[in-house]
Amino acid sequence: MSTINLVTAITKKSGEAVKFRPYKIALVLESLDLEGDVCETIMALVMSKAAQPNVTTQIIYQTILTQLETLSPQAAEAFQTKHMSDEQAWLQAIDPENKLKSLINQDDKTMHENANKDSHVFNTFRDLTAGMIGKSKGLTMMPESVAKAHLRGDIHWHDLDYTPLGPMTNCCLVDFDYMFKSGYTMGNAQVETPKSIGTATAQMAQIIANVASSQYGGTSINRADELLAPYAEMNYQKHVNDAKIYVQADKRQVYAENATKKDIYDAMQALEYEINTLASAQGQTPFTTLGFGLGTNWLEREIQKAIFKIRIKGIGPNHRTAIFPKLVFSLKRGVNMTADDANYDIKKLAIECASKRMYPDVLNYEKIVALTGSFKAPMGCRSFLQGWQNEQGVEVNEGRMNLGVVTLNVPRIALQSQGNKARFWEILDERLALAKQALKFKLARTKEAIPENAPILYKNGAFGKMLQDDEDVDTLFRNGRATLSLGYIGLYEVGTYFFGPNWESNEEAHDFTVEIVRRLHTACQAWEAEDGYHYSVYSTPAESLTDRFCELDKARFGAIADITDKDYYTNSFHYDVRKHPNPFEKLLFEEAYPKYASGGFIHYCEYPNLRQNPAALEAVWDFAYDHVGYLGTNTPIDKCFKCGFEGDFKPTARGFCCPECGNHDPKTCDVVKRTCGYLGNPQARPMIHGRHVEIASRVKNMSQSEVDQTHVK
Ligand SMILES: [Zn+2]
Repeated sequence: MSTINLVTAITKKSGEAVKFRPYKIALVLESLDLEGDVCETIMALVMSKAAQPNVTTQIIYQTILTQLETLSPQAAEAFQTKHMSDEQAWLQAIDPENKLKSLINQDDKTMHENANKDSHVFNTFRDLTAGMIGKSKGLTMMPESVAKAHLRGDIHWHDLDYTPLGPMTNCCLVDFDYMFKSGYTMGNAQVETPKSIGTATAQMAQIIANVASSQYGGTSINRADELLAPYAEMNYQKHVNDAKIYVQADKRQVYAENATKKDIYDAMQALEYEINTLASAQGQTPFTTLGFGLGTNWLEREIQKAIFKIRIKGIGPNHRTAIFPKLVFSLKRGVNMTADDANYDIKKLAIECASKRMYPDVLNYEKIVALTGSFKAPMGCRSFLQGWQNEQGVEVNEGRMNLGVVTLNVPRIALQSQGNKARFWEILDERLALAKQALKFKLARTKEAIPENAPILYKNGAFGKMLQDDEDVDTLFRNGRATLSLGYIGLYEVGTYFFGPNWESNEEAHDFTVEIVRRLHTACQAWEAEDGYHYSVYSTPAESLTDRFCELDKARFGAIADITDKDYYTNSFHYDVRKHPNPFEKLLFEEAYPKYASGGFIHYCEYPNLRQNPAALEAVWDFAYDHVGYLGTNTPIDKCFKCGFEGDFKPTARGFCCPECGNHDPKTCDVVKRTCGYLGNPQARPMIHGRHVEIASRVKNMSQSEVDQTHVK
């Protein structure tokens, strides 16, 4: 059926005027299985109506209904039922009573939406209860077209439990340096500049708990080794002075250095334990990311080494793998890449740590600068700020933040296009208009905050300034200082729909999927040109969205092989997890996308046991350095404390079990899997169905014999 694209406005029931999109009518009619030329007849009539002035959605609806009643009464009934069930779904969604019921009845989906939340815990339950109210109330606050598109699953408004009900921000790079140097107020205490690394990391943990409670996304520490070294220097000076009194002259230097190293180790260990024992106001461990690795003086090196040694050792009597903070290690040529670099020993330690604990993920310095315009750790698991200078022309990363994410269901657009690429692009345009409306509303809502809503962020320095009560929070957001994220998911499924399930080596298919991300990027640039706020494309982690979008599309389009029948959509631009390209092929395939998705991306490869030959991992890291910006390691590190098994636990219908003795009790095993950007403990906190299936479907990118035979050049 041809859909002539007339630029006509149509008024919705809410009074909002939107562009008239003939393909939408076509989609509705096609879904009714009409016979012969009924579709064409109705379409022609609708088009003539739409060409008249003052046309409303009501008029179009009536036109279709009246025609159907004459031409196909059965279809008329289906059409009406669909319309009514959509209205019903809307009324249910905005009624908090329904949501609360699902929580109180311990509805499986509600309970496992977030892998980091244990809903049996009182304060988490309270957070979820508040979130239910936030969700239903929030839907009625945003533009109705956005709210309905979210409910339909055309787009996903992230963090609906917190925003727009609260004008909250998402994630940030905390400006610790500014807070430490200028002193700050927190709660009832006036806090002064720390005088030792131990005090600095203790303050850091307090700040993290406070920041994490005032926003809903991840809290990141940028360049931690360089940030903390001046405080370790204070420890050193103190030990030098003490040594003059208590230590023999020829042993003073060694004494002061060793005592400082011990202080550094203790401070970093305390930080790791504190972060893992903290609970934010959201009733969860704060999503914390620790970036480090570029410092080359002896104190910075000691801090880096301590972070790795502590992580390798593990937490508690069973030496479990710490899930937080996420460690992100910076690789840089001339610093730590090759044997003649000063910090090459620390790269070796990083490799050992990744082979035993999966973290650190690595940031490749030059690539991060090339892709995002400056070097910094991601906010949360993968959200990148873009290079930015203040009015004085100084590059600033710390104290900046993200204001929220809206994600497009791209596979649905492919399914609705019915294989017609022109229609695919037209629907994408329409969804982009919706996403724009959603993001601009998120922005407007966030700007309604006042400094006293979140003192730690706005008044006490975490966002890099100490605003007065009457100052506007927007001074911290506008002119590109903050970012907003346009997310996407499922490029694999889109490629599959148009080119078949094995399209990865098909150049035309690859170009087509890159073109999708490029168009999102172009849209973001246009939005920024309009209002001066920075929008960027974000390869959404989709921890539970992978399940939600796929489930909604399966209900609507049926089980389609390699698309909806898997029960999950593939993360962002990632290679189909069920296939086994080697790591080099995988990275080369994925390399093109972050160029346009610089607001957020991560690559990861699946390896078998790397502990016998960590050189295999180094070979991949070295190759990746010139190709991708941000790379994670997935390797089997599960442990059974009952029988002593170490390796990959076996996926079961709901979780994972020891392949040797069948143990699946989280108290006596440590199962660690990469959920998306973050690691998770799926045995202690079961994942949503689709994510579990995705994790269970992952195939290794190297065989054990390939690992064993790989050597660094
Ligand atoms: Zn076992």
